Amino acid sequence: MSRFVVDVSDLLKMSASQKPLRILENTGPLVLGEQRFSFLKPVELNIVMENIRSGILVKGSAAAELETECSRCLTSVSVQMELDFEEVFTAGRKQAEELLGKEEAEEAYFIRNETIDLEPAVRQALILSLPIRPLCSEACKGLCPYCGQNLNIKKCDCKIEEIDVRMEKLKKLLDEKENN
Ligand SMILES: [Zn+2]
Ligand SMILES: [Zn+2]
Repeated sequence: MSRFVVDVSDLLKMSASQKPLRILENTGPLVLGEQRFSFLKPVELNIVMENIRSGILVKGSAAAELETECSRCLTSVSVQMELDFEEVFTAGRKQAEELLGKEEAEEAYFIRNETIDLEPAVRQALILSLPIRPLCSEACKGLCPYCGQNLNIKKCDCKIEEIDVRMEKLKKLLDEKENN
C-alpha cells in the first residue's frame, strides 16, 4: 500500500493528540496544461497530524524534485520545490461544511476507514506551486520557428534571412521618406 495512506485510528481515539510523520513516497507525473513534470525522486513530506475533533489537521512541508521541458527550447529542466503543506481531513461532508464552509467543503478530503490518503492533497498543493512556463534560463532564445534549431546552441540561416527581410523593408521605408 502507498505510504501516503496513513492509519489515524490512534489519533481518532484522543482529542488534541498529535503525531509527527515523515513520508518518502513516489507519485505519478504532474500535468499542468501542456507541461508534464516527472518526479526525479520520491516526494518528501514532513508533517504533524493532529486530532482537532472535527477532523485531522495535517500541517508541515512537502519537498519534491521534478523534471520537465523548457517551455521555449524543450531541453530538460529540473525544478526544485519546497512548500508549506496544510490540509484538513474530516469524517464526512457535514463536518467539512461546518469546519470549512460550503464552498471549501466541495474540495474537502475525508477520513476513510480510519485512514487518510495524503496523495491527492499533496499532488494538488504541488500543482498549485508549479511554474506555468518553466525556462532553462531567463535568457533562453528558444527554437527557430522555421527549422527548429535550438538558438541557444547556434544560430540558423532562416533567422538571418528573416532579419534581412525586415532590415530591407526598413531601409526601403527610410529611403521613401528621404525622397519625399
Ligand atoms: Zn530553454
Ligand atoms: Zn531556423
